Amino acid sequence: MSVASAAPASAPIGTLDEIQFDNRFTAALPADPERDNFRRQVAGACYSRVAPTATPAPRLLAHSAEMMERLGFETRLLEDPQFAAVFGGSVVLDGMDPHAHCYGGHQFGNWAGQLGDGRAIALGEVVDTLGQHQTLQLKGAGPTPYSRTADGLAVLRSSVREFLCSEAMAHLGVPTTRALSLVATGDMVMRDMLYDGNRAPEPGAVVCRVAPSFVRFGNFQIFASRGEIETLRTLADFVIDADFAHLAAERAPDRYVRFFDEVVRTTADMVCEWLRVGFVHGVMNTDNMSILGLTIDYGPYGWLDDYDPDWTPNTTDATHRRYRFGTQPAVAQWNLMQLANALYPLVGEAEPLQAALDGYVPYFEQQWSAMMAAKLGLPGLETETDRELATDVLEVLRLVETDMTVFWRRLATVDTSDGVEPADRIAPLADAYYRPAEVTAEHRSATSEFVERYAERLRELAIADTARAEAMNRVNPKYVLRNYLAQLAIDSATEGRPEAIGELLDVMRRPYDEQPERESYAALRPDWARTRVGCSQLSCSS
Ligand code: AMP
Ligand code: MG
Repeated sequence: MSVASAAPASAPIGTLDEIQFDNRFTAALPADPERDNFRRQVAGACYSRVAPTATPAPRLLAHSAEMMERLGFETRLLEDPQFAAVFGGSVVLDGMDPHAHCYGGHQFGNWAGQLGDGRAIALGEVVDTLGQHQTLQLKGAGPTPYSRTADGLAVLRSSVREFLCSEAMAHLGVPTTRALSLVATGDMVMRDMLYDGNRAPEPGAVVCRVAPSFVRFGNFQIFASRGEIETLRTLADFVIDADFAHLAAERAPDRYVRFFDEVVRTTADMVCEWLRVGFVHGVMNTDNMSILGLTIDYGPYGWLDDYDPDWTPNTTDATHRRYRFGTQPAVAQWNLMQLANALYPLVGEAEPLQAALDGYVPYFEQQWSAMMAAKLGLPGLETETDRELATDVLEVLRLVETDMTVFWRRLATVDTSDGVEPADRIAPLADAYYRPAEVTAEHRSATSEFVERYAERLRELAIADTARAEAMNRVNPKYVLRNYLAQLAIDSATEGRPEAIGELLDVMRRPYDEQPERESYAALRPDWARTRVGCSQLSCSS
């Protein structure tokens, strides 16, 4: 991804009407001529213009200070009551051009036809303080032509989760769409949270998401599936010009393949980062795959507490568990194949796209090796021993119920010097066990066997423990947005204490640092959260 060449916004923005828009997407791409807002199939257009729905009592619940700054928004904007009205969808500013994208997608492996932004409305594009275009998009601001049978709204719990996770992921260094603000609408929204026939009213909310582009694999797929090749080409050229400018220069005939090749890599990078931090997306449908390799559409996502590669938070996917933690690299590859199919009409031959797709596995493995080496504090997976350590550590994590995040931080403290008693060496790891009483002599000896080999290799490389711990703590977070922590913030916000959202975000701002006054946020998941809805299992209802 490249930073656009537009000049950075010069003056800080102190009032809402000073925000300047430069709407490249709607200016360059074909629009749906229909302006009325009713559900329909949309042909030959990349988007439909649609106004967000005004709500009775918009109220700002949380904001991201980093995104305010990045957009050049002064903090005094937050005091303007119009801020919540604008970013809750009640007021459209001059220069905005609200619209919903048309896209399709494969859902759980099956082609689903037209999906589109059913409850996302992009307001327009601004140029941020780094000179990069950013699209401001509201999620949950009312129905669009793509809402199908649903209402276009979002409830507080899912909006808190999206707001917090977008920002937490960014602080972890994981590619992601961002979140500027979280606004309560004052409306109540009916939801069947567990899909068990019990509908209940829940408070509505709107997140303002921010990303250089919200284009998904599915934006390309819809046109390929309909044989609308010229629209497909127009979209691809636009995306390349806007977000892959380094590929655009001479309109080289191989630009679509090079574009795809880049998406292969950024997608692999993103998934590798998910594995590093223990993130499960939960709904890796092709309409939820960003063309920029950003984590997008935070729905029934989750974080691993105990390390279980077969875990998925998504109850809608409970039977086949297509989108569990450990299958994410393979699913990403499958999704990339669908993107390659969609781009094929522009390329005209399969071979170069296939070659780029074939690059996925070796590239992913290379990135995975670098990631695992860093987690272990090794310079690389250079020898057979190193490679074994990287796979064996994941086996050790599965011996007993072990908290992934705590384990890696504790591994960084292991004393690797010669002559330490094996039992003493593994002692720090015990903090990561959920059921210490169930740890047998056999588990201990298997753990020891690994840790002794690990220590020996570090001695061989002459890597000092202090330097190693420092390096490991830069890639193994201490604080992640554990499912139960997000749920507690949701509970507080629901009970009228939205400050809890900002407080949790504050912890997640420095995920790699020790924050001694905030130890409790780094603790093992408490027992009550093991089975509570929202803490371990989530449906797509949001
Ligand atoms: P998701 O599984 O959340 O990515 O959503 C799949 C499709 O359903 C997308 O086209 C969404 O915009 C749409 N969708 C999800 N929830 C709603 C809703 N409450 N109202 C309208 N459309 C929705
Ligand atoms: Mg989606």
